[in-house]
Amino acid sequence: MPQRIQTDPARVERVLKVVFSQPRPPVARCRLLSSGFGPAHMLKVDTDLAGSQACLGCGSCMDACPVMARDPRRRARLETRTSMALETLVGEDCDRCGNCALACPQVDTTIKHYLVQTHLAEGMDRLLAQSATDEMLVLDLYLGES
Ligand code: SF4
Ligand code: SF4
Repeated sequence: MPQRIQTDPARVERVLKVVFSQPRPPVARCRLLSSGFGPAHMLKVDTDLAGSQACLGCGSCMDACPVMARDPRRRARLETRTSMALETLVGEDCDRCGNCALACPQVDTTIKHYLVQTHLAEGMDRLLAQSATDEMLVLDLYLGES
């Protein structure tokens, strides 16, 4: 539900790199870097929400998190489904995958594009390089044994 005029990814790229260099859920900080509620939202509330970057408590970030998926017992520890709950339940175990920010309706699309085109692409490059190294290691071990 962010506004039509969104974050300029070139302006937030450096901040996003810092956010994703830290081992903790990034969704709240991505939300606060976003443009906030646009005036065309369909929520039936009296309050003027335009520009609000608040967490909606929708729980989408928790549902998209691989750490939560791998260990569902974490979910049972809290009733709330907010970014704060995600921070509490995942903390430093965060994989820094960016799924939570991609799933959040309050994070600007431009930030999501940055995550898909740069952050995830760099992660794939690292994984491919790692797997190539691992394959060489396995080959070395195999040749060493023969
Ligand atoms: S979805 Fe990914 S980046 Fe977000 S908290 Fe979970 S592991 Fe961390
Ligand atoms: S996905 Fe929903 S619960 Fe999570 S930070 Fe965004 S608005 Fe809040």
